[in-house]
Amino acid sequence: MTDGLTYLDHNATTPLKPAVREIMLQKMGVLGNASAVHKAGRAARRDIEDARARIAKLVNAGPQAVIVFTSGATEANNLVLKGSGAERVLVSAIEHPSVLNARADKEIIPVLPSGVIDLAALDKMLEGNHRVTLLSVMLVNNETGIIQPVDKIMEIAKRRGALVHTDAVQAAGRLPLDLQKLGVDYMTLSAHKTGGPQGAGCLIMSNCVSVAPQVHGGNQEKNMRAGTENVAAIAGFGVAAELAAQDLTSFQGLAALRDKIETELQKIAPALRIFGKDVPRVSNTTMFALPGASSETQLIALDLAGICVSNGSACASGTVKPSHVLKAMGVSDAEAGSALRVSLGWNSTPEDVECFLRKWSEMYNRMKPRLGAA
Ligand code: PMP
Repeated sequence: MTDGLTYLDHNATTPLKPAVREIMLQKMGVLGNASAVHKAGRAARRDIEDARARIAKLVNAGPQAVIVFTSGATEANNLVLKGSGAERVLVSAIEHPSVLNARADKEIIPVLPSGVIDLAALDKMLEGNHRVTLLSVMLVNNETGIIQPVDKIMEIAKRRGALVHTDAVQAAGRLPLDLQKLGVDYMTLSAHKTGGPQGAGCLIMSNCVSVAPQVHGGNQEKNMRAGTENVAAIAGFGVAAELAAQDLTSFQGLAALRDKIETELQKIAPALRIFGKDVPRVSNTTMFALPGASSETQLIALDLAGICVSNGSACASGTVKPSHVLKAMGVSDAEAGSALRVSLGWNSTPEDVECFLRKWSEMYNRMKPRLGAA
């Protein structure tokens, strides 16, 4: 229970962790501008650099990496897609809209019906490529939780001479992250998916790569992102990053609760289809379709019962549209339009899951006469 609600929408945003709230409240009182040379400015600068170090540690960024703070992952994704200098940009069909919509000239890498990127198609798209090219493929999909084979994408990219960006927003705190081992050139993170505040994110650049600023002004963030840094949010992000690493094992333990949801729902409704069950997924996410019942009807019924879940991406601001991710996987409009996503997180409990199952079952029983065979 969070604020009297059963909150199972952690992929949309996570509740603030108490230690993050505490540091933010403290840092909201910070006096100086981090660009100022005086004592107060230097204190604010220290807070920012401390957070940067904590984030670097979370992803094992290495000594050559540069981290640029932004207003969130949307801005970080735009920064790399528009500012990398690439002449060709290839993005997977299941990316977040902040990647998909950043460049009108992007080319789309298809995914297989399993929800995993089509590596053979990607390789073919890069055949004979002589232009400076950037690939953008997310590490974990926010709707299905499916893990993308970024290591294999790196093999192709190296062979074909392309740069690689990965949106790791839904991977941080869910999987061990190692930027150096992974070898990608750019990585995006967002604070609010790991118990940190909304409105803070970063672009991480590995050895010898940089980006042209998309927000012009002062020379903050090594001239790559102008504007006075949000010290309280960045400090909160830093603490959230540190806790994400510490809490990784317990996060992975959420798989037991997620599996219970899937088992119980399929017992109640055998026609239920679970997406991504046969491929690697993060522990906290399940996405499923109940044929014959629209996502919107289910969301409203569950909302009235105090349950917060989603039909996929929260970014369409209140609209309930069939998921572009499911459609890219070849799922029909009708089935995609009946999907729900449940995403657990750091404060989810077995009681939350019991409550969800009870309310979902009540909803199903009310709908059943209209669902036909389902
Ligand atoms: N990428 C992914 C995979 C996401 O899930 C989200 C948030 N829904 C974003 C980017 C955008 O992050 P932010 O809210 O920090 O702009």
